[in-house]
Amino acid sequence: MRDDELDLVGVDQRAHTGALPQDRQIDLALDEAYRRALSHREGAVADYIPILGAADREAFGLCIADVRGGLHEVGDTRTRFSIQSISKAFVYALVCEGIGHHEVRELVGVDNTGLPFNSVMAIELADGHPRNPMVNAGAIATTALMPGATAERTWELIVEGLSRFAGRQLEIDDEVYRSESETNDRNRAIARLLHSYGRMRSDPDETVDVYTRQCSLLVDARDLAVMGATLADGGVNPLTGDQVVSPEVSRDTLAVLAAAGLYERSGEWLYEIGLPGKSGVAGGLVTVAPGKGGLGAWAPPLDAAGNSVRGQVATAHLSRTLGLNIFASTPADRQDPR
Ligand code: GLN
Repeated sequence: MRDDELDLVGVDQRAHTGALPQDRQIDLALDEAYRRALSHREGAVADYIPILGAADREAFGLCIADVRGGLHEVGDTRTRFSIQSISKAFVYALVCEGIGHHEVRELVGVDNTGLPFNSVMAIELADGHPRNPMVNAGAIATTALMPGATAERTWELIVEGLSRFAGRQLEIDDEVYRSESETNDRNRAIARLLHSYGRMRSDPDETVDVYTRQCSLLVDARDLAVMGATLADGGVNPLTGDQVVSPEVSRDTLAVLAAAGLYERSGEWLYEIGLPGKSGVAGGLVTVAPGKGGLGAWAPPLDAAGNSVRGQVATAHLSRTLGLNIFASTPADRQDPR
């Protein structure tokens, strides 16, 4: 999306890049971001997973969790929806924690494919290498690398790990799981194709089943903000104090999100918003401001790549007004005698 589409024309960028501003300023910025994004009615709700087509087009929630444990919320922040692709980011972090980032880099890659999230072509073009852990092929290959001797144990470890990121026990939405399981021929084909190239460490059908379950975990915008804040805080959940992953794994995960978190629109997102983020087809969006906090957004209508329209508009506003863009700097004070 461009500046005009993101409603950023004439919005000043806050020069401050050190820490989040005072609570009151965050609340004001959040209200304004919400108000602006609310007027955006474009986008379509995903319905290739049949049950997702029933989502409320008007649902919209925004939450910021700061690394000191503060929460700022507006709108539908406590309504649950399936995490979908956002699970890829957190399972990736768990796998890096489990087997080390060098191995994950070798086996799955860290690049953007520049192609849609369910692309089969991308696999063929790379001779069977998934390349991008934030699209379905790479995420399925990543889930296959999770510790756990059986699929059931792997699933338990995923639920436990993602629950620690959220700071509460997450549960699966059985209806979403069933709806996707009945229609996910494409993901099963992707897993089989990877397997034919020797790129799957676990049984392809069982792995797709675990992957489908991880995508069906229920979260709300507040959970996403806390999960993001955990990656913003060196892997420590700011609400529970739990060290979920190491600071190095948090750093590496955020680098992958910056490169590939919004599918083939990741470059545009980074250019406009300047933060690592990850979207999902149920309309969730998590954004991370390293050292500052996490932002969770939920609004089901999506752009053509599968990213929440309102989520992007609101996040763009917050990135500018709260001074979050990781690339923004101001010239050094030349009077400073250092
Ligand atoms: N479960 C979804 C799928 O595999 C996740 C995709 C997404 O959120 N982009 O198709």
